[in-house]
Amino acid sequence: MTKRFYTFIIVPNASSRLHKLRLPIQVMYILAAIGAISFFVAVALGFSFTKMAFKVADYNSLQAENTELKVEKKNLEVSTKKLSTKLSDLETLSAKLTALIENDEFLKKQRGKNSVGGTKTDYPTADILKEISELDINVLKDRANDLENNLTLLQQKAEKHALARRYTPTIWPLKGPIGSGFGVRQDPFRTSDSETHLGLDIQGMFGAPVHAPADGVVIFAARKSDYGNLIIIDHGNGVTTRLGHLSRFRAQLGRAVTKGEVVGYVGMTGRTTGPHLHYEVRLNDRPLNPRKYLPEGE
Ligand SMILES: [Zn+2]
Repeated sequence: MTKRFYTFIIVPNASSRLHKLRLPIQVMYILAAIGAISFFVAVALGFSFTKMAFKVADYNSLQAENTELKVEKKNLEVSTKKLSTKLSDLETLSAKLTALIENDEFLKKQRGKNSVGGTKTDYPTADILKEISELDINVLKDRANDLENNLTLLQQKAEKHALARRYTPTIWPLKGPIGSGFGVRQDPFRTSDSETHLGLDIQGMFGAPVHAPADGVVIFAARKSDYGNLIIIDHGNGVTTRLGHLSRFRAQLGRAVTKGEVVGYVGMTGRTTGPHLHYEVRLNDRPLNPRKYLPEGE
């Protein structure tokens, strides 16, 4: 077998001498193979380098992001701590309000229902004992929900309280000295030794305005023997008030009146020795001492 060659003729510039390069064909194949392998290695290296460059860029941006996140986390911690403190303040305030409303003597009388509550979920103890962070966002959420429920209850109670107060005779129909209190007293007309006084006699100038002691409806406004000109106001829940010896009426029969509204004027109609207001408070038509509802020291 004859050896085959490739001959390369190299012509240098501005020279008449030729360089001849004779290479066997096997050497050509080997060179071609080396060239091809070198090309693929170079391409692979190029890819690898590009990938690395992207990774480095990614790493740098991640590090920057990480630093930012750390700052954000710190800020979040500070805000959460502040939120927790704020919630604690609100919880304290809510507890104080609850105590005020729960211990209010007036509201205690209005209340009859037992307080109930509790959980419907069976929480395993292990779950409860699981360490929870004070700053756990879920704990904060629960606390905020509790607070909202509590405040809603308080609002309902306060509204009920305000409504009940409007219909309870808690203000004086007339400001003045008490001429005669509730209960057994000497007969002012000396026709007998003693009698039971069913209300308060409040002294006042003839014609002085007499106010409704609570919201209600006028169910009587006419002359009635010893009472003289009498107004009876129905305040609901079995509570009625009577205002006697009036000189004139202002409120009309069947009309709704509001607490403090002028319903008549002081007079001396009926069985009286001088101008004053006879004031009665009745619960289920049983006379009570009106002072029971009135503010102390007035
Ligand atoms: Zn009287």
